[in-house]
Amino acid sequence: APAGTPSGTTVSAEEAEQQRRGLMLVLSSPSGAGKSTIARLLLDKEDNLALSISVTTRPRRSSEVDGVHYHFLDPGRFEQMREHDELLEWAEVHGNYYATPRGPVENAIENGRDILFDIDIQGTFQLYEKMRSDVVSIFILPPSIAEMKSRLKRRAEDTDEIIAKRMKTAVGEMRHWEKYDYVVVNDDLERAYENVRAILRAERLKQFRSPKIGPLIQGMVDDLEAELG
Ligand code: 5GP
Repeated sequence: APAGTPSGTTVSAEEAEQQRRGLMLVLSSPSGAGKSTIARLLLDKEDNLALSISVTTRPRRSSEVDGVHYHFLDPGRFEQMREHDELLEWAEVHGNYYATPRGPVENAIENGRDILFDIDIQGTFQLYEKMRSDVVSIFILPPSIAEMKSRLKRRAEDTDEIIAKRMKTAVGEMRHWEKYDYVVVNDDLERAYENVRAILRAERLKQFRSPKIGPLIQGMVDDLEAELG
């Protein structure tokens, strides 16, 4: 082509991101660190991000809707799913079982859709074992234990006994903070949310998620070499 005429391989940012493999965004935190609020904001405002709806044997809280917050199951059905390898990960938390159904997650990430997980540390480690490069994990840290406790009490959904149990779990989880890819302190909700969004945005651009980018770059290299002769 004459000088100055566009020729050869042309890439748009959209195209570069196309056919990207979806990622698994895991938000973890002790109860009372504000994780649910951040998750809600993300789901409201982000395109291409859906929540993985877990199954659980825990009784439904009055504020919860079956099929929206969880799929509430009896222990027999849970056991059946586990035996049939229908669960990507599972854990016992505070005496109840929780798990991520496999099908919807695999389907989503193969089709380039990102999935948000609200799962505990045991589940996060199981996802690491199975699909480490698809997982992006963020630990949300409360600004202080006093603040965490007061958030738990304000929620007023749980008894003192349950709150004590949750605090105990929190200690265990906080000890593992280094196993998470990112730590975000939630002293200011807006700021914490913006940081999580920035992480998501950058992670979506990781080159290994876009198998299409390699051939595109190769095309450009070929064009350049042809031009140089
Ligand atoms: P809650 O009973 O307050 O809804 O959840 C209790 C804990 O279970 C939270 O730490 C939550 O992240 C965790 N959890 C919820 N769903 C799952 C799941 O599917 N897998 C695992 N491993 N943990 C979960």
